[in-house]
Parts: sequence; C-alpha cells; structure tokens
Amino acid sequence: MSFRLNAEQVDIKTAAREFCEREVKPIAAQVDRDRQFPMETIRKMAPLGFMGMAISQEYGGCGFGTLENTLVIEEVSRCCASTGATVVVHNAFVCPVIERCGTEEQKRKFLIPLAQGEKLGAYALTEPDSGSDISSIRTRAQLRDEKFVVNGSKCFVTNGGKADIYIVFAKGEEGFMALIAERGHEELFFGKPERLLGMRATSTSSLYLNDCMIPRENLIGRPGQALEIAKEGLVDLRIGIAAQAVGIAQAALETSVGYAGQRVQFGQPIGRFQAIQRMLVDMATEIEAARSLIYRCAAMRDRGEDSVKEASMAKLFASEVAVRSTKKAIKVHGGYGYMRDFPLERFARDARVTAIYGDPSEIQRNIIANILLGYKD
Ligand SMILES: Cc1cc2nc3c(=O)[nH]c(=O)nc-3n(C[C@H](O)[C@H](O)[C@H](O)COP(=O)(O)OP(=O)(O)OC[C@H]3O[C@@H](n4cnc5c(N)ncnc54)[C@H](O)[C@@H]3O)c2cc1C
Repeated sequence: MSFRLNAEQVDIKTAAREFCEREVKPIAAQVDRDRQFPMETIRKMAPLGFMGMAISQEYGGCGFGTLENTLVIEEVSRCCASTGATVVVHNAFVCPVIERCGTEEQKRKFLIPLAQGEKLGAYALTEPDSGSDISSIRTRAQLRDEKFVVNGSKCFVTNGGKADIYIVFAKGEEGFMALIAERGHEELFFGKPERLLGMRATSTSSLYLNDCMIPRENLIGRPGQALEIAKEGLVDLRIGIAAQAVGIAQAALETSVGYAGQRVQFGQPIGRFQAIQRMLVDMATEIEAARSLIYRCAAMRDRGEDSVKEASMAKLFASEVAVRSTKKAIKVHGGYGYMRDFPLERFARDARVTAIYGDPSEIQRNIIANILLGYKD
C-alpha cells in the first residue's frame, strides 16, 4: 500500500484545517466553558460536505471513504474535541449504519438529510445496566399494529436532545433490533445534559422511551440482526474516535512545541533542555505511529478488508497516546499548563473519553486478544 495521502486527500485535509482554524478553534475554549453545543459550527460544515464524507453521492454524501472521513474528524478534533465528538457519532456510526443496512426508503428519508448536514444523528445503545456488555440491554420493542412499541432507558447518548435522528437498539421477540427514532416521536424523552469531565460542549444525555411508537418501516435490517449491525457500526466508530484522539494529541503537541521555543528559563528557551525535548519527541513519535495505524486501518476498511482487529488497535493506541500526550503537554507548560486560560487542561480532560466511549481500552484489548488467540467472543 502507498503510505502517502493522494492529492485529493491532501486537499481535503487542507480545506478542513483552514475551516477549523477559522471557525472552530477561536470558539473552542468558550463553548467548553459555557457548555454550549456547537450547532452553528455543524451548520457551517454542512455545505462543505463534512457531515457526509463517506456517504455515496446518491444519498447526499461526498462519495469519499473512511480515510477521508478520518482526515476531517482529525482536523475538527485538533481544534475542538467536543465538535469532533458530534461529527464522529454522526459520520462514523449513524450515517454508515443506515447506508450499509438501511432500506432504500430509509436512505431516502433519513440518510440524505443526514449526509447533507440538514439533520444530525445519534445512537443509543448504552443503558444504565448495560455498558460494555451490549448483549445485556433491556430496552424492549414489541410489534403491535405495524408499529414497534418501545420501552426502556438509554444513557450517555452523544448529541442527545440535539440530534434529529436516533438509532435505538432494543430487544424484541426475534432478538436484537435497531430502530430509527426521530426527535418528536411521541413518548421519546431526553434527560438533562450530563455534566462531563471533558468534551463539555457536547450534549450527552439519557433517552427514555415510554411506550414510544416507532413505525415498522423504521427497523434497520432484519429482526435479530442488530447485534451484528452494532458490532459492524462500532468498527467505524472506533476508527473515528481514534482520529479524534490523534487530533487532540496533535493540538497538545503543537501548543507544546510553540511554548518550548518561546518560554525562557536559565537564559535559554526551555526547548533547549533535553528533558523537554524528550517529552516532545515521545509525543511526536507516538502521534505519528497512531496516525499511521488509523490511516492504514481506514484504507483497509475502504478496500472492504476485515479490519475489526485493526480498528480496535487504532483506537486502543491512539486514545492512550492522546491521554499520555496531553499529560506531557501540561508538564511542558509548567504551572501555566494547570491554568484554565491555557488550553492544556481542556486537551487533557477531552482526551480521557476517547479511551472510554466506543468501548473502553479493556474491551479493545479483549477483542484483539480473542482474534489473536482464535477465541470466539
Ligand atoms: C462522554 C460519553 C459519550 C458516550 N456516547 C455514547 C453514545 O453516543 N451512545 C451510546 O450508546 N453510548 C455512549 N457512551 C457509552 C460508552 O460507550 C460506555 O460508557 C462504554 O461502552 C462503557 O460502558 P460502561 O460505562 O457501562 O462501563 P462498564 O461496562 O460498566 O465497565 C466498567 C469498567 O469495567 C471494565 N470492563 C467491563 N467489562 C470488562 C471485561 N469483560 N473485561 C475487562 N474489563 C471490563 C471496563 O473496561 C471499565 O473499565 C458514551 C460514554 C461517554 C462517557
């Protein structure tokens, strides 16, 4: 395989960087401080195609692939991880699931406005008593008069309350089901946005379904197929979260390099000290390694190759690199790294969740180990 982005991919990355430097970065600290969901930014991204990168043109997308989607997520997250999370869930879970498994009618009705950025997507899998063990969900869907009557509680829904379209996972008589719910469906309620350690500009909320009627035609795939749909969707999501992690780590590195060149102690820039150099070098090397894993995995996905193990490796490594790099960035900045006027503490808070959502690092290790050892999960 080629280890270079092609000219079009370089153009996409450059366009995303220019947009994010201009529109996303200047408000990142403020939206984090005010816990303000960046809906305006999402609206501005839509005409540029950023909300439908990997979706075919037939369904309102740009017709690129996972790799191009990854480049956009990385650039958005380099400037604002909260905005990055919104894009990750929409672009790397909701849209691909509907494109891969939805009916023609679902694609026309839901995917086109999603890919064009007119509507925002979310997915609701996690429940208060069902996290890593997704097979243990308790939300129930019962078919009655051509409608599914859905009852249950979901938690930690990214874009919760702000998204228009929700992929809700439930269990019915025939097993696991994935259903499309719309905000405004009767008996679909949202909890208050959670107060998060990081990614504070996201809207992460509970979702309650209380005899919520979802039309039968909103079932994605066959009844009983949704565990497979969720697992496949999580592969794309993990690549997206890995790209988000690298974006955050890259921001921490660039800020640290700038600071090390300009902060003078003992009569010279601190970048002259080997101890500081070592931190910067370790950050840069690990970030480059994580990026290579992600791009390779995304390219494999685009070629239709099995990339379950590679996606877990990319997420595991990139998220841990983001946590380590943002911690080192605080050290490079000394006391200023601890101040809220500097972005380092935000980077460190934001990085943490990349090792949790889309399944925590322990689960990624389990997936990789099972594949390495040939165990069935
Ligand atoms: C900010 C945020 C946004 C999120 N967004 C969404 C969303 O949009 N939609 C959605 O459905 N969910 C979302 N989630 C949920 C997220 O995916 C879950 O938090 C995650 O899957 C872990 O589930 P849990 O929190 O219940 O932890 P648990 O599963 O209870 O795990 C607790 C601890 O035990 C460990 N553990 C569990 N099982 C094993 C095992 N077999 N082997 C080793 N260790 C194990 C875990 O790694 C973890 O350290 C979000 C979470 C957060 C924090």
